[in-house]
Amino acid sequence: KSAQIAENINALLKEKGMEEEVQVVLTGCFGFCEKGPIVKIVPSNTFYVEVKPEDAARIVEEDLIKGEKIESLLYKDPSTKEKISDSDKMGFYDKQQRIALRNCGLINPENIKEYLGNRGYQALGKCLTEMTPEDVINEVKLSKIRGRGGGGFPTGLKWQFAANNHADQKYVVCNADEGDPGAFMDRSILEGDPHSVIEAMAICGYATGANKGLVYIRAEYPLAIKRLRKAMADAREYGLLGENILGTDFSFDIEIKYGAGAFVCGEETALIHSMEGERGEPTSKPPFPAESGYFGRPTNVNNVETFANIPEIILNGGEWYTTIGTEKSSGTKVFALAGKINNVGLVEVPMGTTLREVIFEIGGGIKDGKKFKAVQTGGPSGGCLTEKDLDTPIDFDTLTSKGSMMGSGGMIVMDEDDCMVAVSKFYLEFTVEESCGKCTPCRVGNKRLLEILDKITKGNGTMEDLELLRELSETIKDTSLCGLGQTAPNPVLSTLNNFWDEYVAHVKDKK
Ligand code: SF4
Repeated sequence: KSAQIAENINALLKEKGMEEEVQVVLTGCFGFCEKGPIVKIVPSNTFYVEVKPEDAARIVEEDLIKGEKIESLLYKDPSTKEKISDSDKMGFYDKQQRIALRNCGLINPENIKEYLGNRGYQALGKCLTEMTPEDVINEVKLSKIRGRGGGGFPTGLKWQFAANNHADQKYVVCNADEGDPGAFMDRSILEGDPHSVIEAMAICGYATGANKGLVYIRAEYPLAIKRLRKAMADAREYGLLGENILGTDFSFDIEIKYGAGAFVCGEETALIHSMEGERGEPTSKPPFPAESGYFGRPTNVNNVETFANIPEIILNGGEWYTTIGTEKSSGTKVFALAGKINNVGLVEVPMGTTLREVIFEIGGGIKDGKKFKAVQTGGPSGGCLTEKDLDTPIDFDTLTSKGSMMGSGGMIVMDEDDCMVAVSKFYLEFTVEESCGKCTPCRVGNKRLLEILDKITKGNGTMEDLELLRELSETIKDTSLCGLGQTAPNPVLSTLNNFWDEYVAHVKDKK
């Protein structure tokens, strides 16, 4: 639809002889998925939502020619019912701080000149001409940025480990596997701003001593792949990728590796095995990839969102990054906000923002005026948080202490109509399906857990089954080999803790 809208506006501009005056730019995602397709007029910042191809004539005639706002296409605030025309004044954007998503919805991702015009590749230039590899690592360490893929490991330290290991060949890997159902931040960054990831990978290569980059991306992301390929070709043409980048003796190039969408391949050792053509199964660590990764060579793996932050950290300094967020979780985090919420979309907020602010101010509250019940953070491996947790600041450690996790940034909101036993069963079905089967606690334990949940949801469970659920969950968490198994029981445990009454209501011998 968006392409059709752009085509219609362009045709009308041509008809009116205005094609030199007004430029139509197809951008990546604005983040406000609930209200797409979106047309934003700049510099007035007028934000038109749910635009249809047939609205093109009104946009040209009324806004671009007469300078009048089209009332019916403006966003209506769900709580005040007020129509808002300026995107900067909308609750959805007002509380956000966009660093990783800085160019998404702003530039044409298929035009390298637009990235260059927005400070693109300046960070790489700064690294190559003014900084040693150690300086770069120190700046990243200073920023205290932690991996956005879910692990939360300090990125600077990870780079340091890869740099410390000497080898004839080292690799930089970008994890664009994004297996959480409902999460789409990595896809949006690659579709909306692919150069930011390419630039960051080259910076990482320079810092760690690697000249080869690999992007592991799921094959179900055709638009992201297309834009990434185009961006890589353009970067090579501009001397920003390949041999002797910017005339220096640093060379770095990137290859794309395709994944088939297995959730477990988000785990770095499984991802590396998959890239090597082996089964995507995790192996125990150590050795860590920084020591022995892709084909046994030192390999640094970061996810898309982590990389997207790097150029801004280099340009503004690591210290600047620590002024955003909390002491132990610096910077911002992108969340895919979904479920029973008014403003479904992709949001980026400073760490430390509360769940209440995200759900009620940015998310516009619960759909159809219903009551908030729970929010699942961290995707299928996370946990459900409730009303009492709404003022919880979102950061790595606080979410974990509450029995949930940051994960890669999935955030699914549930209302009063949702059955939490069914919710936990839904997530467990996913992890059982996605378990690679290598270790027994995860392969067999989660299956048994699911059978018990199934029995309970069919009304055949007992109080003893509820105790067994808890005991088995703890055992699976403690004994599984990788993060998938270790976190799979989280939705069961957190719902048992927060919604015990609902479980009891399902069993036969209620006490
Ligand atoms: Fe495979 Fe699950 Fe064991 Fe991880 S925990 S290695 S996904 S079986």
